[in-house]
Amino acid sequence: MTGYGPFSTEEWIAHFPFSKEAREFLEQQGFSISTFFEFENKVVERALERVRDAVEQGHVLSPSLESGFKYDFEVETLSYPVAIYLVASLGNRWLIERYASAESKRVFACLQLKRYPAEAVLQLARGGLEWKWVTYDSVLKAFKVPVIKYVKYAVRIGGPAWKLVNQRVEEGVVLLSYEKFLRFISEGVRLRILERCSQPAPQLETDVYKKSIEYIRSLLSQTMKPIAPMPKSVDPEAFPPCIQQLMRSIEEGRHLPHAARFFLASFLLRVGVKPDRVVEIFSRLPDFNRKRTEYYVRHIAGEKGGKKAYLPYSCERARSYGLCSMSDVCRQLQVQHPLQYYIRYRRAKRRESE
Ligand code: SF4
Repeated sequence: MTGYGPFSTEEWIAHFPFSKEAREFLEQQGFSISTFFEFENKVVERALERVRDAVEQGHVLSPSLESGFKYDFEVETLSYPVAIYLVASLGNRWLIERYASAESKRVFACLQLKRYPAEAVLQLARGGLEWKWVTYDSVLKAFKVPVIKYVKYAVRIGGPAWKLVNQRVEEGVVLLSYEKFLRFISEGVRLRILERCSQPAPQLETDVYKKSIEYIRSLLSQTMKPIAPMPKSVDPEAFPPCIQQLMRSIEEGRHLPHAARFFLASFLLRVGVKPDRVVEIFSRLPDFNRKRTEYYVRHIAGEKGGKKAYLPYSCERARSYGLCSMSDVCRQLQVQHPLQYYIRYRRAKRRESE
């Protein structure tokens, strides 16, 4: 196996256990995942540590780079598919999303800290993620991504910096800087883990496996508290279908794109939910970051930044973002805005009870 410039191949494989080189290494070992659950061993220990970091911190730490302890290259590499197997076999949506997001943050941190040459990063994308459609232009110093592929990955990253209209596009290809491409790769890793976790991972009968699953379940029960009921002044029954759908997604621990988060937060704040409660609701998101969410929610509430409280999107705008789940009630109430739905629904309910 060849190293990349001054970097050893072992380090490369340990940092990127999804790379082509890592796959070759795993094939050479010839282990099946179930072998690791036959007896207590360091690989399962490290796999559980990966899952624990993901559940508790939302970020799997890279041993040599972020947590400062020395790692065993084989353990580090083998523990990655073992952790994925455990996460997949539990089948908990929140955990799957959380783990995928936490590993992708680790990959992003590694890439940022190590600053590998562009050729090595390209190899990771083409070989590891099997993105044969990516190329690198050494004159323009940019990675070239076909528009259709760009949209697929960038849509989940969100934010104005990733909108297609804000990119440099030439002949159907988006030109991405080195920095942006690192983030793009980490999104690819996240989606790849989600795909892997949606494949069947049969339950095993060994004690090591059962103990591992028990441990992860206990981590989940400590972290995933049910969403507390809404304050008395707020009537969740009057939430329009679009908002109810987003609340269900949060309850199930699903990832929400940027626009959906804004839509939900601005709606909840407008109907009288306090910013702290909104932050608590958002804490169920797999990529939750308290500090960032607090700032974001207070900004929407008009307590930070320009001191302007934001309104949720109109129905038309929500539709354009794919956030509308229009029902017959929306039609009957003739609403153009989700807040209209809330007010009209409550009024109708009051009339009925009089
Ligand atoms: S029509 Fe408006 S209120 Fe009804 S689901 Fe769509 S966005 Fe929400």
